[in-house]
Parts: sequence; C-alpha cells; structure tokens
Amino acid sequence: MNVLVLNAGSSSLKFQVIATDLDRMKEHRDERLCRGEVEGIGGEATVTFQAGKEAKRRFAAALGDIPSALDYLARLIASEQSGVPEIRSKADIHAVGHRVVHGGERFAESALIDDKVLQGIEACIDLAPLHNPDNIKGILAVRELLGQDTPQVAVFDTAFHQTIPDRAFFYAIPYDLYGRYRIRRYGFHGTSHRYVAFRYRTLRGLTREQTSIITLHLGNGCSAAAIKEGKSVDTSMGMTPLEGLVMGTRSGDLDPAIVSLIATKEGMSPSEVDTLLNTQSGLLGISGLTNDMRQLLAKLKEPADRQARLAVGIFCYRARKYIGAYLAAMDGADAVVFTGGIGENSPDIRARICEGMEWAGLKIDAAKNQQMIGREGLISTDDSRLLAYAIPTDEELLIARDTVRVILGEPHPS
Ligand code: ADP
Repeated sequence: MNVLVLNAGSSSLKFQVIATDLDRMKEHRDERLCRGEVEGIGGEATVTFQAGKEAKRRFAAALGDIPSALDYLARLIASEQSGVPEIRSKADIHAVGHRVVHGGERFAESALIDDKVLQGIEACIDLAPLHNPDNIKGILAVRELLGQDTPQVAVFDTAFHQTIPDRAFFYAIPYDLYGRYRIRRYGFHGTSHRYVAFRYRTLRGLTREQTSIITLHLGNGCSAAAIKEGKSVDTSMGMTPLEGLVMGTRSGDLDPAIVSLIATKEGMSPSEVDTLLNTQSGLLGISGLTNDMRQLLAKLKEPADRQARLAVGIFCYRARKYIGAYLAAMDGADAVVFTGGIGENSPDIRARICEGMEWAGLKIDAAKNQQMIGREGLISTDDSRLLAYAIPTDEELLIARDTVRVILGEPHPS
C-alpha cells in the first residue's frame, strides 16, 4: 500500500510517501518512496522534494492554499521525472495518514476518518486553535483531490498520553474549569514517544509490558514522557505544547503569575504574552542569539558567550530535573531514551543532561555516546543500572503503519 503521510500547517505541508503493508511491517521492509515539504503556502512557495535516497530538489510555485499545494504535490510525485516509478497517477496513492495535533479526550487511538471523526477533530479546535484547523483543511483537500473512497486516517499527537492517570493530568485549579473547558494536561509528541518506546523494546527483545522508560524528545519542541509498562503515565507538555522542558523558542515551566506581570509591565495583551512565551523564549530568549542548539554549542568554546552558556545550562538542568521527577513518578525506570534533532545528534547535550546521575545508576559511556549520532544504540556503560539509549524518531513511519493497521482493522502492537 502506498501511504501518503501529511502534516499540514498554516503555511507549510510536510509529506512522505511510504510503501508498507502488514508483511513489510513484520519484516521492517517499509520503503520511503519520497519526502519533502512545501513552505510559504499563500504566496510564492518553495517545494523541497527528495525521491528515495536521491539528492533533494527545489522548485518554486505560486500556491495560494493547501488544496493547490496538495494538487501540485500529487502531480509532481506522479510525473515521469519524479524518480518515484511506483506512483504514476493519483490512483497509485492508496491511503493517506494525517498528523493531527489535538485529539482531546475523544481520541486515544488513531482513527479512520469519516464525518463523525472529522466533527470530533473540529470539536478539539478550542484546544488547538492554531493547528487543528489546518489539519482539517488537509483532510478536506485530500477528499477533494482523491475522492471519498481513498481511506484517510488521523494519527493524534495527544493520543498516546490518554493513559495518563487523573492525578497527573489535572491542574490544581477550580474543578469546574475542567468541566467547562476541558482544561487539563494532554501532552504532545505522542507519536514520537510511542515510536522510540517501540524501537527500544524491539532492540532489547522486550514485550510492551516490560517497557518502563523515560523518553526525552529534544527537538525544536521538547518533551519528556514517563512510560510505565508500555503506557504513558506522565508527560511534560500540558494543555498546550508550552509547558515542561525548555525548548527552542518556548519557555516551558513558568510561574503562571509571570503572565499577568509581563502583560501589565509591558502593556501587552494576554495573547501577546502567549506569543512571547511561544516564539521569543526558550533557548532563543535566554541566549538572545538563536534557537539552534548547534550554534549555541559553538558559542561555548572559550571565550564562552555567557548567555549561550546559560541557555544550554538551563536546558540541560531542566531535562535532568524531569528525569528525576519521573523516576519518582513511575517507581524507577529501566532506561532513558533520547530522540529528536538534539537528542539524536548531540552527544554533548546528552552527556550534560546525565551528568551527576550516577546516584540513580546512570553512567554515560563517552565512546558509545560519541558513536551514536543519528543512529540507534546504547550509550550507557555496561555497569549502568539505568540504561541510556539514543534512538532516532520516525513519526511518519508510525503514521504510515497506523494508517494501514486502522484500515485493515489490525490492533496496534505499540
Ligand atoms: P522539530 O522539533 O522542529 O522537529 P528537530 O527534531 O528537527 O526539530 O530538531 C531541531 C533541533 O535539533 C535544532 O535546535 C537543531 O539545532 C538541533 N540539532 C540538530 N543537529 C544537531 C547537532 N548535531 N547538535 C546539536 N543540536 C542539533
């Protein structure tokens, strides 16, 4: 089955086409036929396209909205020159899997999209006003282009965390507010946490029930998850992706009184403060330089930039605090798993986060840590009681696999 995986944003459309089916999944023979991104939708857009392992190509096109971007993509993929011989027409796209940001309390699993599911995603717009509307536009654009008969599946960022118990997902604010607005912790990056937990247990030959780990997704957005016996029991992102770890441009945890203080002192509206905390804070805010961890690490070479050192220091300290908190929350864990752009590629940050955690039995092996850049494997010493792994995430693969499983009515193995 050729599955088109889509992640529709306000002005971008990320895509991959993955050929997979139940046999291929079992044998890990899923094949990525092409991938890329359309950026700048709404004006002169840039399309990045890569067929298989070929070089990336770039195209420019005036694409006013998501439907026209999708139409352009479908033509590009099916064209003679695309380098994707498996797809010669729209009919060769057999199913579509969508990354949907918020599934609220309605969706604890991926779902085959029909009108009822679409209404459910619409009902979650209040919880993710910036994301769910674009995800819906993506789904409707596919219906328009490929017709009602092409099955579409929604894979929710929040779904994996629906197993979190109420004591962990409630905020200590008046109970009525939960009843009226569903204000609670939902958590995000669920597909990524779920994928690396699945890879971890595959690497170690464990069952899901034997999988008790802390996963750290450290990318531009960052989150931690406590996964006990295969289920998420706590996570650091909350009602929105703003809570928790320090991120590229997001503050993470913060005294809520700061919001009204900034608003009063700076003459800002609540939503302007919200934007400041989402887009001008985190690594960028503290360093005053960049949200790119590579550039910050380069600034640590003597003479070190003080704010860059502070940004990296706060980032790692906050991550270490969450590891400690989750060890307590889940009665101990067997491993810490690093993923995301920073977690997969930066031995330096992994070592800084785990520094001084020998008390918990966690010892990083410097040589193994250095080797594990963009590849999966153990990075702790042989005598470490708490293991550490680096595992590259692959949310698109999990979305493609869920799409096939949901269409065929197969239960999720992870
Ligand atoms: P997103 O959350 O947007 O998917 P990614 O997971 O791609 O983001 O992660 C982006 C982050 O990864 C950036 O901050 C980038 O600096 C960081 N990163 C990528 N490679 C490295 C590296 N070798 N060392 C440190 N940071 C890295």
